[in-house]
Amino acid sequence: MLPVFSMSLHRFISAAAIVGSMVLASLAFGQSRTVVIDAGHGGFDRGGVPGQRISEADKTLDVALRLRRILQADGTRVIMTRDRDVFIPLGTRTSIANSYRNAVFVSIHFNCSSRGGANGIETYYYRSDSAALAASIHRNVVAGAPTENRGIRRRGFFVLRRTAIPSVLVECGFLTNPTEGRLAQTDSYRQKLAEQIARGIRRQPPPFNRPLTSSLAKAGLYGPQPFNAGANRDFVHPDAVRERSSRTSRRSKSSKTTHHTSSRKKKKSSSDDDDAPRKKKTRKKKSED
Ligand SMILES: [Zn+2]
Repeated sequence: MLPVFSMSLHRFISAAAIVGSMVLASLAFGQSRTVVIDAGHGGFDRGGVPGQRISEADKTLDVALRLRRILQADGTRVIMTRDRDVFIPLGTRTSIANSYRNAVFVSIHFNCSSRGGANGIETYYYRSDSAALAASIHRNVVAGAPTENRGIRRRGFFVLRRTAIPSVLVECGFLTNPTEGRLAQTDSYRQKLAEQIARGIRRQPPPFNRPLTSSLAKAGLYGPQPFNAGANRDFVHPDAVRERSSRTSRRSKSSKTTHHTSSRKKKKSSSDDDDAPRKKKTRKKKSED
């Protein structure tokens, strides 16, 4: 009966290892065993710039659904702000997020630019309690992407400002860039993005670090962060970004704008800031390098 015993023992050890890894993942999660995944755009709002060949809304949904599967596989409770091609107002998205305690909110987007060369990953947060999550997600996504590290930035986008839980918005690359656009159209790359975001949510260390894009690195870094002081290298100084943005704005009126609304904008409606992005194209410029 030794073989049987061996098999049982083997199974026991395997099961213990699986349970152990789940416990570790749980501990790494901290208090957040619920993840609210927000697939950007949807319905009539395709995202991106007018006439953009690749639909941002389709790609964000696909990555979000992949991320859901990955997280659910390790027992994480996942809430989706949308799980199909439908328009969801921003206010509804944040209301969904705010109805869960001990949760984190991850909004998935892709970038766009009138300048085809613009490429890379950038990640946004607003609340200080979101900085560590932003860093963890950003560094993992950057490690899985062959393109630039555009840094972690603090910006008051609606979904970051109006959520009461740690919230991060990740821009998974430029659909207007030939390389990133081509990658985003492959199942394997979108799966990779989802896996890297999941690693970030679990606070797993990135397999390696890609240096910040040199022009951004020169622009300067944040001061002390509310977490590991040695890991500040990906934070882009907000003043430097603003300066660059206004310079970019003056230089090229047709350059890309972000499709998320900043806190600096006052608006009565809580639900439609980002829902009509194309009408407000020139309002806010994103830095390009
Ligand atoms: Zn977007």
